[in-house]
Amino acid sequence: MKIHIQLIYTGGTIGMVKSAESNILQPFDFKNISDNIPELNLLDCHIDTISFDRPIDSSDMNPNHWVEIATIIEEHYDKYDGFVVLHGSDTMSYTASALSFMLENLSKPVILTGSQLPIGDLRTDAKENLITAVQLASLQHKDEPVIQEVGLYFEYKLYRGNRTTKISADHFEAFASNNFPPLVTSGVKLTVESHLLLKNNSIDNFNAHKIMDNRVGILKLFPGITPNFLQTLTLSTNLKGLILETFGSGNATTEPWFLDIIKTIIGQGVYVINVTQCDGVRVTMEYYKTSQYLLS
Ligand code: ASP
Repeated sequence: MKIHIQLIYTGGTIGMVKSAESNILQPFDFKNISDNIPELNLLDCHIDTISFDRPIDSSDMNPNHWVEIATIIEEHYDKYDGFVVLHGSDTMSYTASALSFMLENLSKPVILTGSQLPIGDLRTDAKENLITAVQLASLQHKDEPVIQEVGLYFEYKLYRGNRTTKISADHFEAFASNNFPPLVTSGVKLTVESHLLLKNNSIDNFNAHKIMDNRVGILKLFPGITPNFLQTLTLSTNLKGLILETFGSGNATTEPWFLDIIKTIIGQGVYVINVTQCDGVRVTMEYYKTSQYLLS
C-alpha cells in the first residue's frame, strides 16, 4: 500500500525568493519548492500539496493561521497517512506547540519543518529537512504510523514540537529541546527512540479544537519592573491568561505591589502561568522564598 502524505505550505524562508527590485526575501508560491526539489518525486510515497492562499513569513503567524492549519488537517485526516507542514522557523515552535494541544487523539504524524536558507540557494538546508520530514511522516510499523504526534524536524533531529525553541537565526541547527531528548536522529540511518514516542491509546476519535482566545499575554520579568508598567499591561487589558516569564527556577520579585497586582488579576479570573526565562530548567515554586510567594 502506498503511503499518502499531505504537504501543507504556509510560507517561510524555505520557499522565499528575493524580490527583483530589492534584496529582500519574500514568501513565494509552492511551485518554487517543487521545482527545486525534484527528489520529492523519487520518494516511495504519494505527496499532495496544499498551500496558504498567501504564504507568509512566520512572524505574521497568529491563532487564525493555526486554526487554518488545524482545519486543513481535520478535513483531510482520513485521506492521508501523515502531514508535513512547511513553516518559517521564527515562530515554528509556537505553531508546533499550539497544534499539539489543538489536535486531540492524534494517531498520525504532523511534522513541521522549514529551513534557514531558501530552497533555491546552493547551500540550502531545505532539501534535507523536507525530504527527511516526509520520510518520517511516512514511517510505518505493522501498518501503523510510527510517529503519532506533532513533531518538529530540523537539521537531523526530530523533536517533540511543544518542547522546542528557536535558538539560532544563522546556524543550520536552529532549534533545541532542552528538557526532552530528540525523538529521532537522522544519520546514515534514522535512529528512532521508540520508547520516547507518544502513542494514541484513546478510543475517542481525532478531534481538532479550533476555538482560540487571543486575550493572552506574555510578560518577561526584569529587574526594575515598575508597578505602573505591570498595571498597564494587566489591569487595563482584557486579559484571560498571563504567562509570567520568571527568573531561574520560577522566582519573582517579592515587592508587595507585584504580588498585589498578580492577586488582583487572579481574582478577576485571569489564569497566571509561571514559566522560567532559563532555557534548560524547570519551575520549582517551593525552592526559594521568591517563588514560594507565587504559590499562595
Ligand atoms: N523570517 C522567516 C520566517 O519565519 C525565517 C525562516 O523561515 O527561517 O518565516
